Amino acid sequence: MSRYSVEDIAEKPAEKESAKAAYRVLYDGQCEICQACVSWLKTLDRENRTVCVPISAEVLPTVDARLNLDDCLRQLHVVTPGGEIHVGWDAVACLARLFPSTWLIGALGQRFPFRNAGRLLYEFVATNRYSLSKCRGGACRVAKPEAVRRQARLGAFWSCYTLGFFIRLPLVLWAGIKAAGQRMSTFALTYHKRLDLLNGKLNILFLDGMLPNTVPLLFGELFTTVLYDGAAIDPGSPKMRRSLARHLRQVKPKIKKVVATHAHEEHVGNLNWLAELTGAPIFVSEMTARFLTPFKNLPWVRATIIGQPANLKQPYHLLGETIDTESGYLQVIPTPGHCDDHIALYDPKEKVLLAGDAFMGSYFATPNPDVDSQKWLLSLERLMELDIEILVEGHGHIHTLRGDIPDFRGVVIREDPKVAISQKLDYLRWLREQIEAGFQEGLPVRAVEASCFPWENRTSWESCATDECMRLLSLGHFSRTELVRSFVRRNDDQLPTVYEIRISGGE
Ligand SMILES: [Zn+2]
Repeated sequence: MSRYSVEDIAEKPAEKESAKAAYRVLYDGQCEICQACVSWLKTLDRENRTVCVPISAEVLPTVDARLNLDDCLRQLHVVTPGGEIHVGWDAVACLARLFPSTWLIGALGQRFPFRNAGRLLYEFVATNRYSLSKCRGGACRVAKPEAVRRQARLGAFWSCYTLGFFIRLPLVLWAGIKAAGQRMSTFALTYHKRLDLLNGKLNILFLDGMLPNTVPLLFGELFTTVLYDGAAIDPGSPKMRRSLARHLRQVKPKIKKVVATHAHEEHVGNLNWLAELTGAPIFVSEMTARFLTPFKNLPWVRATIIGQPANLKQPYHLLGETIDTESGYLQVIPTPGHCDDHIALYDPKEKVLLAGDAFMGSYFATPNPDVDSQKWLLSLERLMELDIEILVEGHGHIHTLRGDIPDFRGVVIREDPKVAISQKLDYLRWLREQIEAGFQEGLPVRAVEASCFPWENRTSWESCATDECMRLLSLGHFSRTELVRSFVRRNDDQLPTVYEIRISGGE
């Protein structure tokens, strides 16, 4: 569930424009080996001295008029800033000399006998790589798809996917370690902390608890309660109660309402407790109330780590279209997708969206079995109609460009909230396309899943270690496989579900 910056999700077309002064690397986007080498190149190239361009008939003339499609498909071409063209092994050596860690390989590679050996090796790989080329993940739309399909042997997809993984394995592990370091530092920065924003109108309380702390450390999701203009939103789970009580002693807020965005255990476990403590009434949606009375038994991993919430006690109120706050009101916006009962809260005056879990970063690849991505797409489209300046996620991230929100490393993300949502939409739409095409072709779920995470997408390998760790530790509840399933849910689906029933199937 870790998150990645926007640039990682898709290469920007603008990158090609800024390429004039860089080494332009023309590679075969259909070739798993070429793609893996590009992943390495991008990791080595911290100063953006190279720009990688997948070959297509349209793009070649824009790079250099001397380039020819067939030659480029046969071997690697590099165009230097000075206009020289290096080919094959010489192109590899030329690139290697650009970076300190590979400089020696490049320098030796241009001399006898390494140059001759390099050329032979390159020749061997270049002539055999087509038998490994893949036809999924969109790559074969680039150039000569028929030739690739004809030459790819049975099982080529899996062999090249596996090969792509192993060539990148050191990168996968390194990205995993780096992400773990970032999670640890964000956790340390937010431990026992709170953010007081908008002159005290908005407080983000970071919650913790001995076992719940494993979640931010392993997956990067922080636990929070949001106080907004007299309303306490999502007061955490019983195992985070002590940290919530500590915050309340410090802030001494006037809580007039206790609200939940949805019925997940880390959001609703203290509803009764906080209502009794403050005397404030509870507000939930009609569907959330149904999920909470009685609250179904959680799978044991989640019950142990987060804590099993109690059933919702009477009296409680059902949310209408708006809910009054101290100085105004919040719109209640149904946002199913993350789960069926989800609502988001929006302050049109301040242009603040309290999104709960309706937005969890632009890239999010390990949903739980409650997720229905088709519904999530519609919900995000609805949110795109709002004028949003500050987007507060339910797990501690804030997206805003506003200057009155101070910087906070690992929490405040300086980007336009609407841009973040539209990127999420683009990503979900692309996934839907991959998944629908995959099932139409009659591919097994595993192959569809792999084609949703082609290694040429940086996020696929960068988040691989975290995603798979998540799958393992949640016993398969949160996984990339669920992401695929989340697009093809039907009401009569017999899938493993967290609450034993989904509301649509269990009545
Ligand atoms: Zn949730």
